[in-house]
Amino acid sequence: MNVLTCDIGGTRTKLGIVSGGRVLEQSILPSNSKQGLARLLPVIKAEWLRQLETHGLRLNDCKGVGISFPSLIDYKSGRILDSYGKFDDAMDIDLRAWSRAELRLPLVIENDARMACIGEWQYGVGRGSENLVMVTLGTGLGAAVIMEGRVLRGVHGQAGVLGGHMTVRYGGRACTCGNVGCAEAEASSFSLLDLATAHPGFLNSPLSNESQIDFASVFRHAVAGDPCAMALRDHNLLVWSSLAVSLIHAYDPELLIFGGGIMASADVILPAIREYVGRHAHTPWGQVRIEASALGDLSALVAAEWLLDEQSIHL
Ligand SMILES: [Zn+2]
Repeated sequence: MNVLTCDIGGTRTKLGIVSGGRVLEQSILPSNSKQGLARLLPVIKAEWLRQLETHGLRLNDCKGVGISFPSLIDYKSGRILDSYGKFDDAMDIDLRAWSRAELRLPLVIENDARMACIGEWQYGVGRGSENLVMVTLGTGLGAAVIMEGRVLRGVHGQAGVLGGHMTVRYGGRACTCGNVGCAEAEASSFSLLDLATAHPGFLNSPLSNESQIDFASVFRHAVAGDPCAMALRDHNLLVWSSLAVSLIHAYDPELLIFGGGIMASADVILPAIREYVGRHAHTPWGQVRIEASALGDLSALVAAEWLLDEQSIHL
């Protein structure tokens, strides 16, 4: 049956209607996160209603709502536990009450990386696997774990989703989470500009002429032989590779999936991580498969229906 779904990001919000792993319709809206979540909700509702009308559907034709959000979530109550400087009002909003009042539908919400992981597990590259870990490489580093055919959550819902906050460098860079030397603080879009400008060769690098320094530009200039870009590329690949080994040691998956915007450069990233993991992970039984997300941006959206079924006891 149809489910209304929404992947709220710091910059962009993707939303659509999904059914049986298929996306019937999708749109992308600006999140305007500084203006708060309360102002975004009516915009999301209006877009869902427009999408339904396009397909000749009504709210009665939907069984619920699934939301993906970049935060720790109390999935039992559906409350958002931290705003991380975006959507400052998010912790005060009862999304389930909003959905009941505005849409007359039950609502489930989960961490965005966990949603992406569920989507890949049910409909993407993880289909048929019972033990998998997903890492999303983007502004921050998201992570999530499926273990023995179940979503790993822990007592407070934190298990697995803090995978990007494993310490990869003792005494390293300060992280937004309060720790130092987290993988996210050492190698993400969030930290890339600082890392680039701190490099002694930066002013002589073509990167210093880029209007925006992102991983695409770093990988491009590294291929052309720029020493600063090569050092940045190698540093980031080593951080993600060390993180991969730690996640494999912690969770014993058969499959490790990498997704997120930076994976546009999967042709550079995956071979480097596979090679490092092959040398350093302790897996005497064989090799962990390391693959790119199959669904990309859609993985979090398609997870909504599965989550709604899983969480029905709490609704
Ligand atoms: Zn951290």
